[in-house]
Amino acid sequence: MRKLLLLLLLLLCLLPAAVLAEVEADFTLLETGFAYDITADDEWIVLSWDGKHEDGRMVLHSPGGRFTGEVDMPHSGAGGKLVIEVEELTEKVVIRKEYKLPRSKAYKEPTGEGNATVRNLTLTETPVGFRYSFSAPGTDYQYLYFRSRQESAMMLIYPANDEGFYEGEVELPLTYARTLITVQVVNGKGIMKREGTVRKGYEAPPAPEPGQGRLSGVVVCIDPGHQEDAIPTKEPKGPGIPGYTTGSNGMAQGRTTMRKEDIVCLEMGMMLRDLLISEGATVVMTREVNSGFYSNLDRCRVAEESGAHIMLRLHCDTSANRKKQGLSIYGPLNSEYAQAVCSKDEYRYLGTLLLNEMKKAGGYELTDKTGFVTLSDGFVGNNWAKMLCFLVEMGFMSNPEEDQKLASPEYQMILARGMVEGVYLIALERGWITE
Ligand SMILES: [Zn+2]
Repeated sequence: MRKLLLLLLLLLCLLPAAVLAEVEADFTLLETGFAYDITADDEWIVLSWDGKHEDGRMVLHSPGGRFTGEVDMPHSGAGGKLVIEVEELTEKVVIRKEYKLPRSKAYKEPTGEGNATVRNLTLTETPVGFRYSFSAPGTDYQYLYFRSRQESAMMLIYPANDEGFYEGEVELPLTYARTLITVQVVNGKGIMKREGTVRKGYEAPPAPEPGQGRLSGVVVCIDPGHQEDAIPTKEPKGPGIPGYTTGSNGMAQGRTTMRKEDIVCLEMGMMLRDLLISEGATVVMTREVNSGFYSNLDRCRVAEESGAHIMLRLHCDTSANRKKQGLSIYGPLNSEYAQAVCSKDEYRYLGTLLLNEMKKAGGYELTDKTGFVTLSDGFVGNNWAKMLCFLVEMGFMSNPEEDQKLASPEYQMILARGMVEGVYLIALERGWITE
């Protein structure tokens, strides 16, 4: 065993040091929680902590690579072990610190009756998180545990009245809107008594006065790819393109987050919708829920009936090679509908306008191989579009880093802003608006 360890150590030493991100971290224990001051040569990191009664995880973003803040841990007075970790987006742990927390005299372990039947757990979404209520007659306290992809926490809660009725509101600032949150009521013995799920609500940015906004008059159809149901469909390939395609509509899944492509596309679609509306554009969505089923032809019909100038089909990429990353844009090639819109060169040029704005926003080099515009006959949903139409691959979910980013509300917003800039440039180019 020791020989094996030595060998492993030797191997680790032989790895080029440049592979590991340069990260320095200072943690200061506070009365309830800790403060962090982290410097990294990366603008994205993951901070996680695990204590006796509570744990959590956050994806942090800072363009300068400096991350400072405080994590509130209301139960840190209970003492015990606290582990704080800094990870890269690839989930590689770069810093791990362990502390033995002193038991605080001021900390009161909950006392009284903590065990009873839990009834009527009701969860409702709010713009910032969720509201909960339930009853556990005869109890003096319970624990509320909740987790989303971006954060999790355990909270000690007390009843609002003598009948053991509990209610309250929880904020999850780092959790993206419409993300599913799992909520559990845990009794004083640490046993889960009731579980439910709720989505976090949403507050859209305000829309301008009618006729105002730089995208006023532009109609955009957003088509968030996939949906919960994957039904094999046989569809004609496209106008002027012989043959049919059959597909099971399979989708990508996050390498580390395990999130599915249909959810990411919907989140991105809603964010993009609201940003476009806030710039004065009119937006129609092919779907705003994850249930149901829409074929490619159904989606094109929605775009056509809305009178859209442009249709954006949002997807995420996947590859067996987990290192592969970057953005791509696909447009139609030989479709008769597409040829009626503009020439192939123009199509490629307009696609590049969109791609470059997304690359700039997402922090990709314009010159490197992290993205292409490709015209192809292979996408039925592009071929049947009677307006300008692009399929946008927003990143590889098979790549741990891009998977983490696509799960982060902040990065989704960054990418959506890039798309808005791209739509703006295309609208100018096509004469839908004037400067
Ligand atoms: Zn897809």
